[in-house]
Amino acid sequence: MIKINQLNKSFGTLNILNDISFTIERGRICGLVGKSGVGKSTLLRCINGLESYQSGSVTINGVEISSLSKKELNSFRKNIGMIFQHFSLIDRKTVYDNIALPMRCWNIPKKEIQARVKELLKLTGLEDKINVKTRNLSGGQKQRVAIARALTMNPEILLCDEATSALDPKTTKDILNLLKMINESLDITIIVVTHQMSVVRQICDDVILLEDGHVVENGHVDEVFMRYSPALERFVGVDEL
Ligand code: ATP
Ligand code: MG
Repeated sequence: MIKINQLNKSFGTLNILNDISFTIERGRICGLVGKSGVGKSTLLRCINGLESYQSGSVTINGVEISSLSKKELNSFRKNIGMIFQHFSLIDRKTVYDNIALPMRCWNIPKKEIQARVKELLKLTGLEDKINVKTRNLSGGQKQRVAIARALTMNPEILLCDEATSALDPKTTKDILNLLKMINESLDITIIVVTHQMSVVRQICDDVILLEDGHVVENGHVDEVFMRYSPALERFVGVDEL
């Protein structure tokens, strides 16, 4: 379970997140939406301990992140896979090397790495691309590599930052289906950051809408759409432009 309580985050005098509180239960897919610059990526970075915060708490399975030592934090991060906003793959390296990277960092034996990469390539439908350099892949294939890499350490939580924003509608659908399959078959809790409500409608159980540093909507997707609050209307209006 992910529990955020009264979280405040500023960069210098710039206040980004104000009194953010929400809970995401295990096994859910939660959409995190809001206008560009509202702080979605910053919030994800607070959740995986890449970013510190001024006050409030981020608790994952009962452990408050700011209470961890640097060493504990590193180990804790194994439990959280992250797909970054801009793929963050090493272009000149092969699919195999990109996926193997986190495991090499953890000094996992070569045989185990080989077996795990094969398993992940099968899961993500990339078996025939194992030796291809990632710079030669399509956007959808790159995203599959990023997903496979995020899953290497068997995380319980997967954070996806705009995983589909650079993709065409058909490829978007395929990637969302892959995320849904991962959620269901591996029981992984997923947070999907997106500016596309269509993404939320397609795969999310719950949705959180941020506006001006605050949570202005939070609930089951059907409920939130049924309420159709002024804040949601303002956001969807922007989204559809
Ligand atoms: P987008 O939808 O465009 O990706 P976002 O909602 O993910 O936007 P963030 O990247 O979290 O927004 O940024 C929120 C605000 O914090 C922005 O004003 C950004 O300029 C600022 N910001 C982010 N990181 C830093 C940093 N390291 N130092 C200073 N300001 C930062
Ligand atoms: Mg962002």
